[in-house]
Amino acid sequence: MKLTFWGAAQTVTGSLHLLEFGGHRILMDCGLYQGRRSEAAEFNQKFPVPPGSIDVVLLSHAHIDHSGLLPKLYREGFRGSVYATRATQDLCERMLADSAHIQEKDTAWVNRRERRKGKNEIQPLYGMEDAERVMETFHGVEYGEAFSPLPGLEVEYRDAGHILGSATMVLTVEEAGRIVKLGFTGDVGRADRPILRDPQPMADCDYLICESTYGGKTHEPRDRAKERLGEIVAATASRGGKVIIPAFAVGRTQEIVYRLEELSNEGKLPPVPVYVDSPLAVNVTDIFRAHPECYDEELREQMAKDPDPFGFARLTYIRDVAESKRLNTSRLPMVIISASGMCEAGRILHHLRNNIEDERNTVMMVGYCAEHTLGRRIVEKRPEVKIFGEPHRLRAQVEVMNSYSAHADEPELVEFVGHLDADRLKKIFLVHGDPVRQEPLGLALTAAGYVKPVAPKRGDSFEL
Ligand SMILES: [Zn+2]
Repeated sequence: MKLTFWGAAQTVTGSLHLLEFGGHRILMDCGLYQGRRSEAAEFNQKFPVPPGSIDVVLLSHAHIDHSGLLPKLYREGFRGSVYATRATQDLCERMLADSAHIQEKDTAWVNRRERRKGKNEIQPLYGMEDAERVMETFHGVEYGEAFSPLPGLEVEYRDAGHILGSATMVLTVEEAGRIVKLGFTGDVGRADRPILRDPQPMADCDYLICESTYGGKTHEPRDRAKERLGEIVAATASRGGKVIIPAFAVGRTQEIVYRLEELSNEGKLPPVPVYVDSPLAVNVTDIFRAHPECYDEELREQMAKDPDPFGFARLTYIRDVAESKRLNTSRLPMVIISASGMCEAGRILHHLRNNIEDERNTVMMVGYCAEHTLGRRIVEKRPEVKIFGEPHRLRAQVEVMNSYSAHADEPELVEFVGHLDADRLKKIFLVHGDPVRQEPLGLALTAAGYVKPVAPKRGDSFEL
């Protein structure tokens, strides 16, 4: 049997790994590459094997860099089966539709410009119909219950504690009387976060594909994260200002809302209204409500006292554009949570444009911001930033909190892998990380008694 790494190879995006055995083709993840436009175009336009020849896709979680090429796979002939946890399936339904909408909107924008230059129009990667049709190939599975998508293949998903529905997987593959166990971590989450369970240890395996996003890094402690959130809201409200929080629609938004509600219940939140202004976040929060099987013990206990942990009296979810615009004209203190987290698109841009020049306001950055994004420029507290192409003075206060990360740091990754039998593991493949992160993680795993990991490049194949 042969394993080939087609994506997230020495980079953090476009997760896509191909396993071939007994005439079958299995993909682990089918992610969109997000990054520089030229590299993204090459990756996202062309699959390494004909999509019609793929039998099964095993999906680790719903994040677009793991699932975002599924509609394209369908468009080009894939008619096999996608296996995902039920929460991942529900999230994908919303997120792939949202991604298709972005593809169509971006392409229309580019084509308007190209037409003016007399150039040829481009096609979107996929459209809404592809996103809808690929959902028909999904099969929802449960954590901890082995399933067999093909003769000779058995798979078990366990909770990865990364986002709602996220899973690690172990594949038991039988070929010509030989049995091989292959593990794939997907993205590994962190212990002691609200809402989700801690990552569950994986079963022993012969080969492991392991993420490496934060190799060599240790996250700042989370102890004071909630208190600091309350203090920032209180200080801003006392100045008569607004708190603007750019946050990703999946995970981060629900976590901030959960913490604000706790602060509110404890009487530690000033009486200001809180708005979640992102149609995707609103839909995703409904999906969180629909999947209590993914909650941790803390949230279950909390729900015995408060049946809706994602809603409280002063919190309003906004879908409507007109309602979103009304927030701009209000002069009262408030908290606005809106997407996207890196401030590259979405309604957050309007809120920043309207509020960033007022020193009474606070912009609170809670997520990772890649280079060359508006979010990164705000994190760096540049005196002037461009929004919609126009320069704006950055006079609002900027608060940066890294403690809301959804990825394990290096000590947590080493501990996670540490549950596996080192004598049995023949090879560890590091994926989903830049080389500068993979190198220290490789050393740390070797020091912990594991075989020296390899970091495959795109297109590298290994016989298992
Ligand atoms: Zn992820």
